[in-house]
Amino acid sequence: MTHSKVVIIGSGPAGLTAALYAARANLEPLVVRGLQPGGLIATTSEVENYPGFVDGIGGFELYEHMERQAGRFGAQYKDAIIQRVDLSERPFKLYTDTDELISADTLIIATGASPRKLGVPGEEKLANRGVSYCATCDGFFFRNKKVVVVGGGNSALDEGLFLTRFVDELVIVHRRDSLRADPVLQERAFDNPKVRFVWDSTVDEVLGGERVEGVKLRNLKTGEQTTLETEGVFPYIGHVPNTWLFKDVLELDETGYLVTDNRQRTQIPGVFAAGDVVDHVYRQAITAAGEGCRAAMEATWFLSEQEHAAKKSQAVTEEVVSPALGQW
Ligand code: NAP
Repeated sequence: MTHSKVVIIGSGPAGLTAALYAARANLEPLVVRGLQPGGLIATTSEVENYPGFVDGIGGFELYEHMERQAGRFGAQYKDAIIQRVDLSERPFKLYTDTDELISADTLIIATGASPRKLGVPGEEKLANRGVSYCATCDGFFFRNKKVVVVGGGNSALDEGLFLTRFVDELVIVHRRDSLRADPVLQERAFDNPKVRFVWDSTVDEVLGGERVEGVKLRNLKTGEQTTLETEGVFPYIGHVPNTWLFKDVLELDETGYLVTDNRQRTQIPGVFAAGDVVDHVYRQAITAAGEGCRAAMEATWFLSEQEHAAKKSQAVTEEVVSPALGQW
Protein backbone atom coordinates (compact mmCIF):
# COMPACT_ATOMS: atom_id res chain seq x y z
CA MET A 1 0.00 0.00 0.00
CA THR A 2 1.15 3.52 -0.82
CA HIS A 3 0.06 6.44 1.31
CA SER A 4 0.26 10.13 0.48
CA LYS A 5 -1.07 13.30 2.04
CA VAL A 6 -2.18 14.47 -1.39
CA VAL A 7 -3.05 12.13 -4.22
CA ILE A 8 -3.80 13.66 -7.61
CA ILE A 9 -5.57 11.62 -10.27
CA GLY A 10 -4.64 12.89 -13.71
CA SER A 11 -1.54 14.46 -15.19
CA GLY A 12 -2.84 17.24 -17.44
CA PRO A 13 -2.30 20.95 -16.69
CA ALA A 14 -4.75 20.82 -13.75
CA GLY A 15 -3.14 17.77 -12.13
CA LEU A 16 0.43 18.89 -12.70
CA THR A 17 -0.15 22.42 -11.46
CA ALA A 18 -1.81 20.95 -8.36
CA ALA A 19 1.28 18.74 -8.01
CA LEU A 20 3.59 21.75 -8.30
CA TYR A 21 1.80 23.70 -5.56
CA ALA A 22 1.37 20.70 -3.25
CA ALA A 23 5.03 19.77 -3.74
CA ARG A 24 6.14 23.30 -2.91
CA ALA A 25 4.05 23.04 0.27
CA ASN A 26 6.24 20.02 1.16
CA LEU A 27 3.37 17.57 0.86
CA GLU A 28 5.14 15.18 -1.56
CA PRO A 29 2.02 14.66 -3.67
CA LEU A 30 1.54 11.48 -5.63
CA VAL A 31 0.29 11.93 -9.19
CA VAL A 32 -1.42 8.94 -10.76
CA ARG A 33 -0.80 9.60 -14.43
CA GLY A 34 -3.80 7.67 -15.79
CA LEU A 35 -4.62 6.45 -19.29
CA GLN A 36 -3.26 9.46 -21.12
CA PRO A 37 -0.15 10.91 -19.44
CA GLY A 38 -0.24 14.67 -19.91
CA GLY A 39 -3.94 14.64 -20.71
CA LEU A 40 -5.37 16.25 -23.83
CA ILE A 41 -2.70 18.96 -23.97
CA ALA A 42 -0.06 16.30 -24.63
CA THR A 43 -1.92 15.34 -27.81
CA THR A 44 -2.20 18.95 -28.98
CA SER A 45 0.14 19.96 -31.76
CA GLU A 46 0.87 23.57 -30.90
CA VAL A 47 -0.20 25.64 -27.89
CA GLU A 48 -0.12 29.33 -28.74
CA ASN A 49 -2.12 30.75 -25.86
CA TYR A 50 -0.28 29.49 -22.79
CA PRO A 51 1.35 32.60 -21.31
CA GLY A 52 5.12 32.70 -21.26
CA PHE A 53 5.80 31.00 -24.57
CA VAL A 54 6.15 33.81 -27.08
CA ASP A 55 6.42 31.52 -30.10
CA GLY A 56 4.05 28.85 -28.80
CA ILE A 57 5.07 25.43 -27.53
CA GLY A 58 4.26 21.85 -28.51
CA GLY A 59 1.58 20.31 -26.28
CA PHE A 60 3.72 17.32 -25.34
CA GLU A 61 6.68 19.55 -24.56
CA LEU A 62 4.50 21.72 -22.30
CA TYR A 63 3.39 18.57 -20.46
CA GLU A 64 7.00 17.46 -20.00
CA HIS A 65 7.97 20.90 -18.65
CA MET A 66 5.13 20.82 -16.15
CA GLU A 67 5.93 17.30 -14.97
CA ARG A 68 9.62 18.03 -14.53
CA GLN A 69 8.87 21.31 -12.73
CA ALA A 70 6.62 19.63 -10.14
CA GLY A 71 9.09 16.74 -9.86
CA ARG A 72 11.86 19.18 -8.96
CA PHE A 73 9.98 19.98 -5.75
CA GLY A 74 9.24 16.38 -4.81
CA ALA A 75 6.10 15.35 -6.70
CA GLN A 76 6.00 11.58 -7.24
CA TYR A 77 4.51 9.89 -10.30
CA LYS A 78 2.85 6.55 -10.76
CA ASP A 79 1.77 4.99 -14.05
CA ALA A 80 -1.52 3.44 -13.11
CA ILE A 81 -5.22 3.73 -13.69
CA ILE A 82 -7.57 4.08 -10.75
CA GLN A 83 -10.41 1.56 -11.12
CA ARG A 84 -12.34 2.13 -7.91
CA VAL A 85 -12.47 4.68 -5.11
CA ASP A 86 -13.74 4.49 -1.56
CA LEU A 87 -14.28 8.02 -0.27
CA SER A 88 -16.55 7.01 2.64
CA GLU A 89 -13.89 7.80 5.23
CA ARG A 90 -10.41 9.31 5.52
CA PRO A 91 -7.85 8.27 4.52
CA PHE A 92 -9.53 7.73 1.16
CA LYS A 93 -8.83 4.48 -0.62
CA LEU A 94 -8.01 4.19 -4.30
CA TYR A 95 -7.61 0.87 -6.07
CA THR A 96 -5.45 0.68 -9.19
CA ASP A 97 -5.79 -1.55 -12.25
CA THR A 98 -3.00 -3.72 -10.80
CA ASP A 99 -4.90 -4.13 -7.50
CA GLU A 100 -2.58 -1.81 -5.67
CA LEU A 101 -4.13 0.17 -2.83
CA ILE A 102 -3.31 3.86 -2.53
CA SER A 103 -4.50 5.76 0.49
CA ALA A 104 -4.82 9.51 0.59
CA ASP A 105 -5.46 12.16 3.25
CA THR A 106 -6.74 14.45 0.51
CA LEU A 107 -7.65 13.78 -3.09
CA ILE A 108 -7.50 16.07 -6.11
CA ILE A 109 -9.46 14.81 -9.09
CA ALA A 110 -8.05 16.07 -12.38
CA THR A 111 -9.16 13.29 -14.68
CA GLY A 112 -9.96 15.67 -17.56
CA ALA A 113 -12.12 14.86 -20.53
CA SER A 114 -11.99 12.58 -23.55
CA PRO A 115 -12.83 13.29 -27.19
CA ARG A 116 -16.52 12.89 -27.95
CA LYS A 117 -17.20 10.13 -30.46
CA LEU A 118 -19.36 10.62 -33.53
CA GLY A 119 -21.35 7.55 -32.54
CA VAL A 120 -21.97 6.46 -36.14
CA PRO A 121 -21.57 3.07 -37.85
CA GLY A 122 -18.00 2.30 -38.89
CA GLU A 123 -16.36 4.65 -36.39
CA GLU A 124 -15.47 2.05 -33.80
CA LYS A 125 -14.57 -0.66 -36.32
CA LEU A 126 -12.15 1.66 -38.14
CA ALA A 127 -10.63 3.31 -35.06
CA ASN A 128 -6.85 3.40 -35.55
CA ARG A 129 -7.43 2.27 -39.12
CA GLY A 130 -8.07 5.74 -40.45
CA VAL A 131 -10.26 7.10 -37.66
CA SER A 132 -8.12 9.08 -35.22
CA TYR A 133 -8.76 11.52 -32.40
CA CYS A 134 -5.18 12.78 -32.31
CA ALA A 135 -3.77 14.69 -35.26
CA THR A 136 -0.47 15.20 -33.46
CA CYS A 137 0.00 11.47 -32.95
CA ASP A 138 -1.25 10.24 -36.32
CA GLY A 139 -0.94 13.15 -38.79
CA PHE A 140 2.30 11.78 -40.22
CA PHE A 141 0.56 8.62 -41.44
CA PHE A 142 -1.66 10.70 -43.73
CA ARG A 143 1.14 12.24 -45.78
CA ASN A 144 -0.12 13.16 -49.29
CA LYS A 145 -3.61 11.88 -48.51
CA LYS A 146 -7.03 13.42 -48.22
CA VAL A 147 -8.60 13.56 -44.77
CA VAL A 148 -11.79 14.77 -43.15
CA VAL A 149 -12.02 16.72 -39.91
CA VAL A 150 -15.43 16.94 -38.26
CA GLY A 151 -16.35 19.98 -36.12
CA GLY A 152 -16.18 23.75 -36.17
CA GLY A 153 -14.49 24.60 -32.86
CA ASN A 154 -10.93 25.49 -31.93
CA SER A 155 -9.81 21.87 -31.81
CA ALA A 156 -11.13 21.10 -35.29
CA LEU A 157 -9.37 24.08 -36.82
CA ASP A 158 -6.19 23.91 -34.77
CA GLU A 159 -5.65 20.22 -35.40
CA GLY A 160 -6.93 20.48 -38.96
CA LEU A 161 -4.36 23.17 -39.72
CA PHE A 162 -1.69 20.95 -38.20
CA LEU A 163 -2.77 18.16 -40.56
CA THR A 164 -2.24 20.41 -43.60
CA ARG A 165 1.50 19.99 -42.98
CA PHE A 166 1.09 16.43 -44.23
CA VAL A 167 -2.06 15.98 -46.24
CA ASP A 168 -2.84 17.06 -49.79
CA GLU A 169 -6.43 18.00 -49.01
CA LEU A 170 -8.34 18.64 -45.82
CA VAL A 171 -12.12 18.71 -45.78
CA ILE A 172 -13.74 20.21 -42.69
CA VAL A 173 -17.28 18.97 -42.23
CA HIS A 174 -19.34 21.20 -39.96
CA ARG A 175 -22.96 20.91 -38.96
CA ARG A 176 -23.66 24.64 -39.32
CA ASP A 177 -22.63 27.34 -41.81
CA SER A 178 -20.49 29.34 -39.38
CA LEU A 179 -17.61 28.32 -37.18
CA ARG A 180 -17.27 28.45 -33.41
CA ALA A 181 -13.45 28.65 -33.52
CA ASP A 182 -11.48 31.80 -32.65
CA PRO A 183 -11.28 34.35 -35.52
CA VAL A 184 -7.50 33.95 -35.82
CA LEU A 185 -7.90 30.23 -36.56
CA GLN A 186 -10.81 30.84 -38.93
CA GLU A 187 -8.69 33.29 -40.90
CA ARG A 188 -5.84 30.81 -41.19
CA ALA A 189 -8.18 28.04 -42.31
CA PHE A 190 -9.94 30.20 -44.93
CA ASP A 191 -6.56 31.32 -46.27
CA ASN A 192 -5.14 27.79 -46.51
CA PRO A 193 -5.42 26.43 -50.07
CA LYS A 194 -5.48 22.83 -48.82
CA VAL A 195 -8.62 23.43 -46.73
CA ARG A 196 -12.16 23.02 -48.04
CA PHE A 197 -15.39 23.25 -46.03
CA VAL A 198 -18.56 21.20 -46.26
CA TRP A 199 -21.20 23.21 -44.42
CA ASP A 200 -24.47 22.23 -42.75
CA SER A 201 -23.49 18.57 -42.82
CA THR A 202 -22.85 15.66 -40.52
CA VAL A 203 -21.11 12.32 -40.94
CA ASP A 204 -23.69 9.53 -40.95
CA GLU A 205 -21.26 6.65 -41.45
CA VAL A 206 -17.57 5.93 -41.77
CA LEU A 207 -17.06 3.66 -44.76
CA GLY A 208 -14.36 1.09 -45.38
CA GLY A 209 -13.30 -2.52 -45.04
CA GLU A 210 -9.82 -2.84 -43.56
CA ARG A 211 -9.21 0.91 -43.56
CA VAL A 212 -11.24 4.09 -43.96
CA GLU A 213 -12.28 4.61 -47.57
CA GLY A 214 -14.86 7.35 -47.23
CA VAL A 215 -17.65 8.96 -45.22
CA LYS A 216 -21.34 9.18 -45.83
CA LEU A 217 -22.43 12.79 -45.38
CA ARG A 218 -25.88 14.23 -44.85
CA ASN A 219 -26.79 17.83 -45.56
CA LEU A 220 -28.92 18.89 -42.62
CA LYS A 221 -30.76 21.55 -44.64
CA THR A 222 -31.66 19.47 -47.69
CA GLY A 223 -31.45 15.96 -46.24
CA GLU A 224 -29.32 14.96 -49.23
CA GLN A 225 -26.83 12.13 -48.64
CA THR A 226 -23.50 12.04 -50.45
CA THR A 227 -20.34 9.95 -50.24
CA LEU A 228 -16.97 11.60 -49.85
CA GLU A 229 -13.83 9.59 -50.48
CA THR A 230 -11.21 9.98 -47.79
CA GLU A 231 -8.49 7.97 -46.11
CA GLY A 232 -8.77 9.56 -42.69
CA VAL A 233 -11.42 10.88 -40.33
CA PHE A 234 -10.58 13.10 -37.35
CA PRO A 235 -13.63 13.88 -35.20
CA TYR A 236 -13.16 17.05 -33.12
CA ILE A 237 -16.68 17.53 -31.84
CA GLY A 238 -16.03 18.37 -28.21
CA HIS A 239 -15.35 16.31 -25.13
CA VAL A 240 -16.99 14.25 -22.42
CA PRO A 241 -15.74 14.52 -18.82
CA ASN A 242 -13.97 11.50 -17.36
CA THR A 243 -16.19 10.99 -14.33
CA TRP A 244 -17.33 7.35 -14.55
CA LEU A 245 -15.21 6.56 -11.47
CA PHE A 246 -17.27 8.95 -9.34
CA LYS A 247 -20.74 8.22 -10.69
CA ASP A 248 -22.38 7.09 -7.45
CA VAL A 249 -19.78 8.66 -5.20
CA LEU A 250 -19.77 12.40 -5.94
CA GLU A 251 -22.30 14.84 -7.28
CA LEU A 252 -22.31 15.18 -11.08
CA ASP A 253 -24.31 17.76 -13.04
CA GLU A 254 -26.80 16.79 -15.75
CA THR A 255 -24.03 16.72 -18.38
CA GLY A 256 -21.77 14.49 -16.29
CA TYR A 257 -19.28 17.07 -14.98
CA LEU A 258 -18.18 16.98 -11.33
CA VAL A 259 -19.82 19.62 -9.17
CA THR A 260 -17.61 21.79 -6.95
CA ASP A 261 -18.07 25.03 -5.06
CA ASN A 262 -16.09 28.09 -6.10
CA ARG A 263 -13.08 26.80 -4.17
CA GLN A 264 -12.74 23.50 -6.08
CA ARG A 265 -14.29 21.60 -3.13
CA THR A 266 -16.58 18.66 -3.85
CA GLN A 267 -19.24 17.77 -1.30
CA ILE A 268 -16.83 15.37 0.46
CA PRO A 269 -14.42 17.29 2.73
CA GLY A 270 -10.85 16.68 1.59
CA VAL A 271 -11.83 15.85 -2.01
CA PHE A 272 -11.19 18.56 -4.61
CA ALA A 273 -11.59 18.65 -8.38
CA ALA A 274 -10.01 20.81 -11.08
CA GLY A 275 -9.75 21.25 -14.83
CA ASP A 276 -11.82 19.79 -17.66
CA VAL A 277 -13.54 17.32 -15.35
CA VAL A 278 -15.30 20.30 -13.74
CA ASP A 279 -15.19 23.09 -16.30
CA HIS A 280 -17.53 23.00 -19.26
CA VAL A 281 -17.23 26.70 -19.99
CA TYR A 282 -13.59 27.70 -20.53
CA ARG A 283 -11.69 24.40 -20.92
CA GLN A 284 -8.31 26.00 -21.54
CA ALA A 285 -4.93 24.72 -20.38
CA ILE A 286 -4.44 27.95 -18.47
CA THR A 287 -7.80 27.79 -16.67
CA ALA A 288 -7.20 24.13 -15.83
CA ALA A 289 -3.79 25.07 -14.42
CA GLY A 290 -5.41 27.86 -12.37
CA GLU A 291 -7.95 25.46 -10.93
CA GLY A 292 -5.20 22.95 -10.16
CA CYS A 293 -3.39 25.65 -8.19
CA ARG A 294 -6.56 26.48 -6.25
CA ALA A 295 -7.26 22.81 -5.50
CA ALA A 296 -3.74 22.28 -4.15
CA MET A 297 -3.92 25.38 -1.95
CA GLU A 298 -7.30 24.22 -0.62
CA ALA A 299 -5.86 20.75 0.08
CA THR A 300 -2.93 22.35 1.91
CA TRP A 301 -5.24 24.46 4.08
CA PHE A 302 -7.49 21.48 4.70
CA LEU A 303 -4.56 19.40 5.95
CA SER A 304 -3.33 22.25 8.18
CA GLU A 305 -6.78 22.60 9.73
CA GLN A 306 -6.98 18.86 10.34
CA GLU A 307 -3.55 18.89 11.96
CA HIS A 308 -4.47 21.91 14.08
CA ALA A 309 -7.76 20.29 15.16
CA ALA A 310 -5.95 17.04 16.03
CA LYS A 311 -3.36 18.90 18.14
CA LYS A 312 -6.10 20.87 19.89
CA SER A 313 -8.09 17.79 20.77
CA GLN A 314 -4.93 16.07 22.01
CA ALA A 315 -4.16 19.10 24.21
CA VAL A 316 -7.71 19.06 25.63
CA THR A 317 -7.42 15.31 26.35
CA GLU A 318 -4.12 15.85 28.16
CA GLU A 319 -5.59 18.76 30.14
CA VAL A 320 -8.55 16.66 31.25
CA VAL A 321 -6.46 13.60 32.08
CA SER A 322 -3.61 15.38 33.95
CA PRO A 323 -5.58 17.11 36.75
CA ALA A 324 -7.59 13.99 37.26
CA LEU A 325 -4.40 11.96 37.56
CA GLY A 326 -3.05 14.61 39.94
CA GLN A 327 -6.05 14.21 42.24
CA TRP A 328 -5.64 10.46 42.43
P1 NAP B 1 -16.09 22.82 -28.87
O1 NAP B 1 -15.62 24.21 -28.78
O2 NAP B 1 -17.19 22.35 -27.99
O3 NAP B 1 -16.51 22.59 -30.40
C1 NAP B 1 -17.09 21.38 -30.80
C2 NAP B 1 -17.50 21.51 -32.26
O4 NAP B 1 -18.07 20.27 -32.68
C3 NAP B 1 -18.55 22.58 -32.49
O5 NAP B 1 -18.28 23.26 -33.69
C4 NAP B 1 -19.85 21.78 -32.57
O6 NAP B 1 -20.78 22.35 -33.44
C5 NAP B 1 -19.39 20.47 -33.15
N1 NAP B 1 -20.19 19.35 -32.70
C6 NAP B 1 -20.56 19.03 -31.43
N2 NAP B 1 -21.28 17.90 -31.41
C7 NAP B 1 -21.36 17.50 -32.70
C8 NAP B 1 -21.97 16.37 -33.31
N3 NAP B 1 -22.61 15.44 -32.61
N4 NAP B 1 -21.86 16.25 -34.65
C9 NAP B 1 -21.19 17.18 -35.39
N5 NAP B 1 -20.60 18.26 -34.85
C10 NAP B 1 -20.68 18.40 -33.53
O7 NAP B 1 -14.93 21.75 -28.64
P2 NAP B 1 -13.37 21.86 -28.99
O8 NAP B 1 -13.12 22.47 -30.29
O9 NAP B 1 -12.83 20.51 -28.72
O10 NAP B 1 -12.82 22.84 -27.89
C11 NAP B 1 -13.00 22.53 -26.50
C12 NAP B 1 -12.43 23.66 -25.68
O11 NAP B 1 -11.02 23.69 -25.84
C13 NAP B 1 -12.95 25.02 -26.11
O12 NAP B 1 -13.17 25.80 -24.98
C14 NAP B 1 -11.85 25.55 -26.96
O13 NAP B 1 -11.81 26.97 -26.96
C15 NAP B 1 -10.63 24.95 -26.29
N6 NAP B 1 -9.52 24.85 -27.26
C16 NAP B 1 -8.77 25.95 -27.46
C17 NAP B 1 -7.78 25.93 -28.39
C18 NAP B 1 -7.00 27.16 -28.66
O14 NAP B 1 -7.26 28.14 -28.00
N7 NAP B 1 -6.08 27.16 -29.58
C19 NAP B 1 -7.50 24.77 -29.12
C20 NAP B 1 -8.29 23.65 -28.89
C21 NAP B 1 -9.30 23.72 -27.96
P3 NAP B 1 -21.55 23.72 -33.08
O15 NAP B 1 -20.55 24.81 -33.33
O16 NAP B 1 -22.68 23.74 -34.03
O17 NAP B 1 -21.97 23.60 -31.66
